[in-house]
Amino acid sequence: MRYGFAKRVQHLQSSAVRDILKITNKGDVISFAGGLPDDELFPVEAVQHAFTKTFESGGKAFQYDATEGYAPLREVLVDRMGKKGIASSVDDIMLTTGSQQAIDLFARVMFNPGDIVLTENPTYLAAVQVFQSYEVKIIPVETDEHGMVPEDLDDKMKKYKPKCVYVVPTFSNPMGKVWSLERRQHLLETAIQKKVIIFEDDPYGEIKFDSSQTYTPISALDDGSHTVYTSTFSKTVVPALRTGWIKGPHQIIRIMAQAKQAADLHSNSLAHHALYHLCTDFDLNGHIKNLRRTYYDRMKVMQRLLDQAELPGLSYTVPKGGMFFWVELPEDIDTTLLLNTAVKKGAAYVPGAPFYVADAKQNTMRLNFTHSTQDKIEKGMGILVEVFQEAASMEHEYQKTN
Ligand code: PMP
Repeated sequence: MRYGFAKRVQHLQSSAVRDILKITNKGDVISFAGGLPDDELFPVEAVQHAFTKTFESGGKAFQYDATEGYAPLREVLVDRMGKKGIASSVDDIMLTTGSQQAIDLFARVMFNPGDIVLTENPTYLAAVQVFQSYEVKIIPVETDEHGMVPEDLDDKMKKYKPKCVYVVPTFSNPMGKVWSLERRQHLLETAIQKKVIIFEDDPYGEIKFDSSQTYTPISALDDGSHTVYTSTFSKTVVPALRTGWIKGPHQIIRIMAQAKQAADLHSNSLAHHALYHLCTDFDLNGHIKNLRRTYYDRMKVMQRLLDQAELPGLSYTVPKGGMFFWVELPEDIDTTLLLNTAVKKGAAYVPGAPFYVADAKQNTMRLNFTHSTQDKIEKGMGILVEVFQEAASMEHEYQKTN
């Protein structure tokens, strides 16, 4: 039978990362591929306690709830975001099924086919997938280690008149870098001047290695009318609860709530009740501090192994937080081609190419350092370095004989 799919499905694509995860979840491959927290560090007891309390609280937690989600949890978020300098009220926040749904619902209510969104290059793959599914035209802005390059941003704002700029300014996915305050301010000033909305995606902001540092969210610099901000409990508590949130101008949140009604009425409110209890009874900040320490130590191990890898031309930026190293390898190494060999030998990564919106660099890769123990990082990096060294020396031989 030929199924008559809607035209728009031609814009849906499977995520290269999720496809790799399917392979690496099998067997005993050491995977640096997914953006996964460590299973061993999940606050299982605290989550169990929070659900027990939810179950004991009676039938209300089991009932349908408001589309925007459980109000007391939104109050907790007003407080937590307030501590980062983001002013909000309960009415400006909607709980979503992960921040992934926040991106989708925002795109659904904001974009017509052909609308333009500016992004970093490379950028978060699954946001690109969403934008493409709504037939949005994505224009990359030149990006260096401090954020979007102001001259290129200004040019593209003028030339393309975008509807939105999508950014991950704090410990980005995939590059793990953090924008300078000046670049944040510049983007906001430009957006205000050109009346463009900024979509600030911040799943990793809490995973910072220097607790005394503040990386002011762009939304904290704004009066609330030019930015929407999304974050999630996926990286700090557990991804399986699929709870994220979006905060933005009330008109946008209101229309997004109507779109959410059509999508799923509301997200899982048992998870909302449990997260509310977890945030109020459990030392979540203490837990986050512990994550920061453990992930920092793992990052340092991976950094040492990258430094020791004898691969001339290898470069990376030391992450100040988040979950990823972005590595550039010698130019003749194609990470997409080598992935199969690496997986067969027992280690996986994500090739960098799929994250690019344009001008993909084949010699790049993203390495996650949070999911594996230090021992596994040692072992997995040993395999990867061997694979790349072999490829580099084969390329060298080939060039000598041709
Ligand atoms: N944005 C970015 C930049 C991410 O890396 C992720 C998770 N990989 C998400 C959004 C979605 O996270 P979740 O839906 O689990 O909240």
